[in-house]
Amino acid sequence: FKQEIFLRYARPNQNIQFIGLGKKSEMKLNRLREALILASAHAGRLKVPSLTLHLSSVGSFEDYTVKEVTQAAVESLVLPLYKFTPFKKEAKENSGVKTVTVAVDTAEELTEGKKGLEKAKLFIDSCNLVRNLVNTPHNALKAPDLANMAQDVAKKVGLKVTVFTEKELQKEGFGALLAVNQGSDIPPRFVILEHNSGKKELDTICLVGKGITFDSGGISLKPADSMETMKDDMAGAATVLGIMEMVAKLNLPLHVVGFMPITNNMPSGKATVPGDIVKSYLGKTIEILNTDAEGRLILADAVAYADKNYKPTLLMDFATLTGACVIALGEAGAGIMGTDQASMDKLKKLSCFTGDKVWQLPLWEEYREELKSDIADLRNIGTGRGAGSSKGGMFIQEFISSKTPWIHFDIAGSAFISKPTHRYYPKGATAACVRLVSEFLINWPHH
Ligand SMILES: [Zn+2]
Repeated sequence: FKQEIFLRYARPNQNIQFIGLGKKSEMKLNRLREALILASAHAGRLKVPSLTLHLSSVGSFEDYTVKEVTQAAVESLVLPLYKFTPFKKEAKENSGVKTVTVAVDTAEELTEGKKGLEKAKLFIDSCNLVRNLVNTPHNALKAPDLANMAQDVAKKVGLKVTVFTEKELQKEGFGALLAVNQGSDIPPRFVILEHNSGKKELDTICLVGKGITFDSGGISLKPADSMETMKDDMAGAATVLGIMEMVAKLNLPLHVVGFMPITNNMPSGKATVPGDIVKSYLGKTIEILNTDAEGRLILADAVAYADKNYKPTLLMDFATLTGACVIALGEAGAGIMGTDQASMDKLKKLSCFTGDKVWQLPLWEEYREELKSDIADLRNIGTGRGAGSSKGGMFIQEFISSKTPWIHFDIAGSAFISKPTHRYYPKGATAACVRLVSEFLINWPHH
């Protein structure tokens, strides 16, 4: 598979694209996805206004149905066409592909294909919501703005929504979240979104996402070049909102609750300084030795709140948490870790279908030692340099009951790509894990 595209003259104003897919015996759905992403990007460059894919001619893929292949094809063709333009003086109309058509051979394929198309459209809409939020700069999306956006989405799709302001956070004892917000002039927010509220017979899934609208590092200030893209540090919260939107639109038979702890992380005369000790929502005290390890602080309070008040069947958290994850996996996929091996295996399998990659990292007990503080219950960074992603995950784990199945997604590399080398998306926000986790919830074994 050489990823070459040949264009051949067909009729005036019509081109046919031929894409080499390799040996039929080695055909995987992911290869079709990659080929169509290339085709779409190429058509975009050529400013071709419409694209038609004859799906039946490509044959079968592993055990996937026409519905699934259509969904994959539409996502692959449409997701790469995304452009973020609200801040351009002249918001040029999309000069590239405007319509995508999928052609099939039989009436049966058409019925199935339409279902796949509808699902792909929902997925693409939620991905674009997430990409727009993550790409929006901090001066246009501060904590109250993101909370308002979440309220708007909730209203539109029928989710129950609750927003805590500083007053409620103080009353509830969100000491770690408030410590991160302490240096800021902008108040924090904590958003709770609920689907199928009050339906006790359903399994409860809690989704928690890190919402740092801008991360300067706080008093442990980041160097300038590491700060450039830190508007993306709320990608976890945006991911939760995107998944919640999809869950509501599909009306899944699950009780799903999304949590978005939101603040920026700024240095100032009143900011938390290294060495400060704070009391978390759960009661455990934290010695904050590096104010740039702030994501795990706001998540500590958020996961503890979710766990204690909602007793989830499964708790998942999403965060652009560690640079170590970017070192380990680059921008191609997310690191996952947790205590629910069966669900993580399912996610890995679904990542082959969605092309939304995850790779499991360990939670070895050796690392936990490093999170112990001499004078508090925990320190927010390890004592050594290695295994930063695992230690970040294990810090969050300290705030969840050992009885609650839990999975942590470190999307530090995959949520926002700085170079256009990634084949799947244009540079910037990617909505990593949104399609994967939505697919996972759709496939949840409902009783
Ligand atoms: Zn940070």
